[in-house]
Amino acid sequence: MLFADAHTHVNPVRGLGAKAIAKKFKDSGGWFMAIVGLSPWSYGLEPSIEGYEKTFRIVLRECNNAKEEGVKVACFIGLHPGDLDKLVYKYSVRQEKLMDFVAKVFNIIEDYCRKGLIDGIGEVGRPHYRVDPIFVVASELVMEKAMVLAKDYDLLLHLHLEQGDGITVESIKRFIKLTGVLVRLVIFHHARPGLLEHVVKNGFTATVPGIEAVLRTVFKRIEPTYLLESDFIDDPNRPGVVVYPWQMIDNQLRILKEGLVNDEYLAKLNIDNVVKVYRVSPP
Ligand SMILES: [Zn+2]
Ligand SMILES: [Zn+2]
Repeated sequence: MLFADAHTHVNPVRGLGAKAIAKKFKDSGGWFMAIVGLSPWSYGLEPSIEGYEKTFRIVLRECNNAKEEGVKVACFIGLHPGDLDKLVYKYSVRQEKLMDFVAKVFNIIEDYCRKGLIDGIGEVGRPHYRVDPIFVVASELVMEKAMVLAKDYDLLLHLHLEQGDGITVESIKRFIKLTGVLVRLVIFHHARPGLLEHVVKNGFTATVPGIEAVLRTVFKRIEPTYLLESDFIDDPNRPGVVVYPWQMIDNQLRILKEGLVNDEYLAKLNIDNVVKVYRVSPP
């Protein structure tokens, strides 16, 4: 039995890094990982334009390190919605200069798109916690930019959003219409029950966190049209958050053993849907 992780992070500066994670994941039955970049400060970098540039280089290198361990990898870089308020409140970006800063970061991202170095953009979207509304608006402007790039370069998009049931999905449909990005390129990352039903009903792809309690609910209630993610942040200060990639595998095997899910269902999530969404060849 083979398993995929459709959204995870690796941190070679503070955490285990891609090599160790990919090795352990592969030894546990993993064949595919989508690696999404973290914010500059996670890698001990200043969030300057140069800091973002260095961040993207680290992500790319880590994707290659994972590949060398023999797993298939999809590589994502972006500008996390949670970065925006931090850039202003914690770092020295002036609010009125924020969108100029974003534009410069996106010039670098577009350069990566143009050179074919990445498979997708992420994570972008809206913050899931309370912030000054101006940062919600700013994050939507960022998301719009990312959607345009995804459309222009035929790349996937990992959206980090609030768990806002049908409202979240309706709003994303408007942005899709506005930008013309293809529905099949848009992935609702970290969709939990409550949002997930609306996402799949509208024909979108979602990645669902592989937490045991969540799996028990979705396996019972939802058709296998989605993907599973660990969203592991590889931060030793927050061990096992959201879930270790290999623990996500154990969770599935445990539920399989109990007879609450079958092989066919898990193969759809871990192989068929990955092949279709990420356009990779099957293992
Ligand atoms: Zn996220
Ligand atoms: Zn994430």
